[in-house]
Amino acid sequence: MEVDRYAVFGHPVAHSLSPRIHALFATQTGEGLSYEAIEAPRDDFAGTARAFFAAGGRGANVTVPFKGEAMELADDCDALAARAGAANTLRLEADGRLTAFNTDGIGLRRDLECNLRCPLAACTVVLLGAGGAAAGVIEPLLTAGVARLVIGNRSPDRAAALASRFADLGAVTAMPVSELPPADVLINATAASLDGAVPELASGLVHARTFAYDMVYAARPTPFLTRCRELGAARAADGLGMLVEQAAEAFFIWRGVRPETAPVLAQLRPQADSAEPS
Ligand code: NDP
Repeated sequence: MEVDRYAVFGHPVAHSLSPRIHALFATQTGEGLSYEAIEAPRDDFAGTARAFFAAGGRGANVTVPFKGEAMELADDCDALAARAGAANTLRLEADGRLTAFNTDGIGLRRDLECNLRCPLAACTVVLLGAGGAAAGVIEPLLTAGVARLVIGNRSPDRAAALASRFADLGAVTAMPVSELPPADVLINATAASLDGAVPELASGLVHARTFAYDMVYAARPTPFLTRCRELGAARAADGLGMLVEQAAEAFFIWRGVRPETAPVLAQLRPQADSAEPS
């Protein structure tokens, strides 16, 4: 039987959990589809993705380092992707046009607010990092009603540029990493954990009521989460839930069916032995 084809594009992509997640969603919902991991050459994401869609592909996820190029490839995009300048989901429309979406921020918010019961409204949220992942979550964090969102990044100019891009949506500012304020919710959107490193944490940033969240996921607590616990953080969580939630939103965009995420998350937790995104 012919089934609809989907894929995740990245470089590298071999350790991606997305094929497993979407296979579990498909079984759960009875949707007939296949989902594979495709490693595109660093210099030819567009050609590889075009070939996939020309051969019958219906939709794709896009991960590091191609989220910006996914925007360039698409004919249209949703408002979240447009503002972030990055897309993690592509959908082929009936007329052959490609639409780009960014589901990372929706995934983060659902994980924090629904799975982890970490309310964001009226909180001081500090976001470490100013790359594609950070850009994708700022608008959903601001629309969650945070009191303020402060961005700190190793390269401060990138944090300042991000803050000004979203300034009309709410109280978002950039600060030097050494001066970041005490955080109710501290989100690590840097790639430091992938190298076993911890980004600089300002004195007083982590305190006894801090919820520390690392977008990277791993079988054991990441160095960032371990350090936050040492500094007295009340709670700590990695990004596996965000990965599953952003995947569920992509599945809904493609199929019009919303899978249940809790059983998938429960099945994946013991297998999350990779620190690769998506
Ligand atoms: P980018 O390469 O676009 O950005 C990397 C960011 O990390 C930059 O801000 C960079 O700072 C910073 N950085 C890298 N190394 C260090 C370090 N040693 N110390 C301090 N800062 C550092 O990557 P993405 O934004 O796409 O991804 C960031 C992370 O988020 C990745 O680890 C990825 O795995 C994870 N992720 C998880 C998702 C999930 O669903 N769980 C979804 C998307 C991403 P500078 O600007 O100075 O270079």
